[in-house]
Amino acid sequence: MRKEWVRAVRPSGSRAELAIRGALVAGSRGTFTADIGISGGRIVALAEEVRGERELDARGLVALPGVIDPHVHLEDVAGDGTPTADDFASGTASAAAGGVTTILDFISPAPGQDFLDAFRRRRAEAARGSRIDFGLHCCLPAGGDDPAAAVAALVREGVTSFKAFTVYEGLALDAFELFRAMRATAAQGAVLMLHAETGEIVDGLVREFVARGDVRPLYHAYSRPAFCEEAAVAEALALHRAVGGDLYFVHVSTRAAVDRIAAEKRRPGWRVFAETCPQYLLLAEDRLTGPQGERYICSPPLRPRGELELLWASVAAGDVDTVGTDHCPFPAAARSGKPSFAQVPNGLGGLGFSLELMFSHGVATGRITIERLVALMCENPARIFGLWPQKGRISPGADADVVLLKPATPHRLSVRDLPGNEDYSVYEGFESTVQVEYTISRGEVVYDRRTGVAGEPGRGWFLGQRVGRPVL
Ligand SMILES: [Zn+2]
Repeated sequence: MRKEWVRAVRPSGSRAELAIRGALVAGSRGTFTADIGISGGRIVALAEEVRGERELDARGLVALPGVIDPHVHLEDVAGDGTPTADDFASGTASAAAGGVTTILDFISPAPGQDFLDAFRRRRAEAARGSRIDFGLHCCLPAGGDDPAAAVAALVREGVTSFKAFTVYEGLALDAFELFRAMRATAAQGAVLMLHAETGEIVDGLVREFVARGDVRPLYHAYSRPAFCEEAAVAEALALHRAVGGDLYFVHVSTRAAVDRIAAEKRRPGWRVFAETCPQYLLLAEDRLTGPQGERYICSPPLRPRGELELLWASVAAGDVDTVGTDHCPFPAAARSGKPSFAQVPNGLGGLGFSLELMFSHGVATGRITIERLVALMCENPARIFGLWPQKGRISPGADADVVLLKPATPHRLSVRDLPGNEDYSVYEGFESTVQVEYTISRGEVVYDRRTGVAGEPGRGWFLGQRVGRPVL
């Protein structure tokens, strides 16, 4: 172990409340064996030897900073009013079981609703149910007034990221509204998140397919072709060159779109980011042709198989900044038997499996390094969304959010092993080579594989996010 890792902020000789002993500690810049001392919910020491009043023998385990999932939808409803399978209590139970210690969910103000009012209600909902810490992004509805004042008011409350859409009736911003949203967020040093697909083309193709009776799930993918994502990304990047600010593309699903974002990043002073999701790396569009194809409907859609390895290469190269799940599962029964793909509620689950999937299919297969995994799932989301240095790292002073993985434990993923409310998973039967043994949130064991979830609903804290800090 190199000497600079040996840092203790407690006087030597004093004991931490909890010591995690002998784990292989993974960070974005290196991996080393160390003991982790935890007191008062924080990491107080990272050293060759740390003793604790309680000690957890972690020899043979890998310690990562608790995963930050920057993109989840819990306790929400689809466009047709179907409630998501997971509320905050059930979704964060799966999160804890999957090594996730922070989620970022969404406030969705109704058109004309006061943003602060929507924020307070949503924060209360999340605070009632969440077992782990949470932050909130705020969706910007279409129409209405310039959001500048509302954005400024929310930034003062610790909501510093805002989501805009270029698709979906009632949500899709027109070009001027998008410009105005970018201007409002840039003025506050906030992040503008964008769901980029050209809505007019998607809506037109959906109408054409439905009118001629092409209603099977695969037509969902055909109605949202890759060029719609690329075109919407290109248009937003052009605007961003004029307006500036932080621009974060959610759930980017194609190499072409990532390449455009990556090219922009290479310009001096770039502030653009790309998120992808496990489903775009692991599931191909052919799933939509199977007997339960409707279970795989999400937007952007799953892509042709050849796209997956290209996207992995972008992830490995650092062109993708974060992996979020866009966790938004609906019960199987709410999806089946619909007259057309256009009536199926969109969204997949993944919150409980994302870490094991990314480790098993990314790190264990050699597609990405463990350091890259930590950057994608812990450090980068913390930095981009104003949670750094409190979250996203195992280092003295940070919150004691730690996940302990047991390597070389091959098994198959099953929704039956998740404590949440999903009744099926698109990852059922996927191989995993690691197992989450413990998840620790602010020093508290919220998941232990032998005894299950221990964190109670409502123990999670609302995290106010900061603005104006240098990012990656
Ligand atoms: Zn989403």
